[in-house]
Amino acid sequence: MFDVLIKNANLPDGLEGIDIAIKGGKIAEVAPGIEAEAGEVIDAGGRLVTPPFVDPHFHMDATLSLGLPRMNVSGTLLEGIALWGELRPTLAREALIERALRYCDLAVAQGLLAIRSHVDTSDPKLVTAEALIEVREKVAPYIDLQLVAFPQDGYYRAEGGVDALNRALDMGLDIVGGIPHFERTMADGAASVSALCRIAADRGMPVDMHCDETDDPMSRHIETLAAETVRFGLQGRVAGSHLTSMHSMDNYYVSKLIPLMAEAEINVIPNPLINIMLQGRHDTYPKRRGMTRVRELMEAGLNVSFGHDCVMDPWYSMGSGDMLEVGHMAIHVAQMAGIEDKRKIFDALTVNSAKTMGLEGYGIAKGCNADLVILQARDPQEALRLKANRLAVMRRGRVIARAAPRISELHLEGRPVMVDAAAYAPLRPGTH
Ligand SMILES: [Zn+2]
Repeated sequence: MFDVLIKNANLPDGLEGIDIAIKGGKIAEVAPGIEAEAGEVIDAGGRLVTPPFVDPHFHMDATLSLGLPRMNVSGTLLEGIALWGELRPTLAREALIERALRYCDLAVAQGLLAIRSHVDTSDPKLVTAEALIEVREKVAPYIDLQLVAFPQDGYYRAEGGVDALNRALDMGLDIVGGIPHFERTMADGAASVSALCRIAADRGMPVDMHCDETDDPMSRHIETLAAETVRFGLQGRVAGSHLTSMHSMDNYYVSKLIPLMAEAEINVIPNPLINIMLQGRHDTYPKRRGMTRVRELMEAGLNVSFGHDCVMDPWYSMGSGDMLEVGHMAIHVAQMAGIEDKRKIFDALTVNSAKTMGLEGYGIAKGCNADLVILQARDPQEALRLKANRLAVMRRGRVIARAAPRISELHLEGRPVMVDAAAYAPLRPGTH
């Protein structure tokens, strides 16, 4: 007797007509035609069932603060950082928690059940860290939340930056962050990478740095990050977030750099929505895209996962917590529109980002956590095209969010009565 039996699911790897049996919050069996009693039977009806979406790069301390204390007029990264600097000292712990929890509600509704958030440690009061640690506990039953100690104003550049970051780690943040391209000089940036990797090695923590988020092709901190990763034996535990300068680098240099990154097993985290919005701002025309070299990095065997980065904050006035929107933009910016390309992009929102975050028990296989999303689409390509509706979101075998199918009723002579956005054929054979 199973707790739940999902019938007739399509899986992201292309298998169709699969049943998934769940018991005790875990996946007990994955096979076609499972005939067994179950407390609840859910008919997936040939729709895509996927493990949950995973966002490996977000800023939960800033989310949903759009317009506070004013809008970002130039739309640039640097004005965003300045604006956040105005807002930060005014933030109250309760308000931070309330906004973060509201975002987590949106995330759950979108099947986004694991998030790595950077937490700004620049203000020595560390209200942000205090608040997000509380949020991490509150949402633990339904979201895996990892917190990165992130020195937004610079580890060396900001007064007290070194002390504040270390105190934030002592308080219980999970990961060492950094922002080498924002330090005063290239040399300071490189020194910060070394110092932060040493802290991670000493504390046995992963590293996730905002690295080279600039159009400057000479911003080469990723080279130092890869080298220090190997020197400290941190292979596989280090992420380079953004890496936008690689877009503008000389091809010959990149041909040397990518193998060094592969040797260090760097997890690459582009943020397509934010990169296309914030980079290339000093260009006239032609204008650079500013996203790192996704296809080439994937082909070199690096683990690439996409982050949402921002939702309605000083840097980005858009966003909705929908990782399919992130993937949709990635397809356009990376020009990866082939069937196999789209499958890789879908992986970059799910399995690859789970690997970046080191999540255990993730996936659709016997013994994995019964964390699943049923989408109103038949396959990953269609899910990305439609930014498909999440019909059901399940955590440890329990449905924690449900949505009605998106169906339109038509009033047209001689045309179908209903259309399902995910179906090429009419939903019902009848016509008016
Ligand atoms: Zn970021």
